[in-house]
Amino acid sequence: MCKIVACLSFMLWVAIGLAGQQVCTDVTVAKLVDVHKLDVSLLLDIRYATTNNFTGRQIYPMASCLLVRPAAESLVRVNTKLRQQGLVLKIWDAYRPHSCQKILWQVVPDERFVANPARGSRHNRGCAVDITLCDLSTGKELEMPTAFDDFSPQANRNAADIPPSARANSRLLEAAMAEEGFTGLSDEWWHFDYRDWQQHPLLDIPFTALGE
Ligand SMILES: [Zn+2]
Repeated sequence: MCKIVACLSFMLWVAIGLAGQQVCTDVTVAKLVDVHKLDVSLLLDIRYATTNNFTGRQIYPMASCLLVRPAAESLVRVNTKLRQQGLVLKIWDAYRPHSCQKILWQVVPDERFVANPARGSRHNRGCAVDITLCDLSTGKELEMPTAFDDFSPQANRNAADIPPSARANSRLLEAAMAEEGFTGLSDEWWHFDYRDWQQHPLLDIPFTALGE
């Protein structure tokens, strides 16, 4: 009898494992902070809160920019250093609820560009940002290898046929982020993961439950 129970328990454990990562819906577990409140000089263009994104649909109900606190504070330090060089960060995306991940996956089921919801995205953990560089005085975006969410080979950090000026700007962003613990995703020059992202749960908590 005990063997049967043990066997069933093992099968259940395997089934949970195969079903993918656990997703937390408990708002009290989400330790996210609004990055823009920490540094109002950061420029925001949260694309999924508009129709100006690859889905052509508004995915987020509001333009929030949330991260786990260590990542948020590190990003502010990156921005402070960049401002001393006459530059400023513009944020296109940060925390993304897991249910929104499923919508993006339905449109582009390609793991080079959209994380499979079965595994979840580091955006779902509040540990990833999509960003670019702007001129501090004009707010104008610097030349980069591609536009945001351009799912082409040119978006790769090591693409061969990139104008030198765009590559230099991309490398400058990469170096500034690396100094504060962010690592760039190879297929997307605009995407950066914060260190220790594994220690933070996948979340499916709506923006409306996380404050303004
Ligand atoms: Zn991203």
